[in-house]
Amino acid sequence: MSRSVLVTGGNRGIGLAIARAFAAAGDKVAITCRSGEPPEELTSLGVLPVRCDITDAGQVEQAYKEIEEKHGPVEVLVANAGITKDQLLMRMSEEDFTSVLDTNLTGAFRVVKRANRGMLRAKKGRVVLVSSVVGLMGNPGQANYAASKAGLVGFARSLARELGSRNITFNVVAPGWVQSDMTAVLAEEQREAALDKVPLKRFGTADEIAATVRFLASDDASYITGAVIPVDGGLGM
Ligand code: NAD
Repeated sequence: MSRSVLVTGGNRGIGLAIARAFAAAGDKVAITCRSGEPPEELTSLGVLPVRCDITDAGQVEQAYKEIEEKHGPVEVLVANAGITKDQLLMRMSEEDFTSVLDTNLTGAFRVVKRANRGMLRAKKGRVVLVSSVVGLMGNPGQANYAASKAGLVGFARSLARELGSRNITFNVVAPGWVQSDMTAVLAEEQREAALDKVPLKRFGTADEIAATVRFLASDDASYITGAVIPVDGGLGM
């Protein structure tokens, strides 16, 4: 059965792999794009790109209106969009801190709240939040990012309890190191130091994150809510 799926930040990296996986399975997929054009491969899969900065509630409302018009209410939401602004605490400005929280945590709040309007009406829904192993373990230089990603866990678990009786599930995927634009900027010695701590001795792929997200949105996961699933090669255990 084809569902209306929204993947925030679905134009590249992990979000692109998630959007591709749902579209290839026959779902009606929309992605938010903050800027630029969506990749050709998504357009050819019939994915609907919607211009939206998730830090702007007005743009979120507009995006949902467009998606509802074309695909119907969102039945599966993947809150994937996220940013980093790494800095050691004493060099981290308040803006570095609040802007990461505003995108990664409050941005998720904006899109989840709006999606739930339709999910409550439909008496069903699936929400998957993309956190990070850093939100569970912490990481030097990433206090802002870790706080935002840990926040997603409390957010999802509270909503799992609040809305479980309405047949809406909230689960969290916590990727470890994944090959993407976010990790491509690492210097060789940083990559080696990172891999040293990963039992599986390699970075994950975006497709491996997408597979877990799809599982959590599938019927096979119908009795799973409030779960946090690390997809991290064993890094966070
Ligand atoms: P990426 O930088 O390649 O992609 C991030 C996406 O989020 C982009 O599409 C970007 O446009 C979008 N985005 C950022 N701010 C936005 C805003 N204000 N409004 C709308 N869209 C916005 O990163 P990625 O590696 O693909 O990461 C995807 C998610 O996975 C993020 O939440 C990230 O924190 C998380 N994650 C990544 C890794 C990794 O190793 N790459 C590890 C753990 C968690």
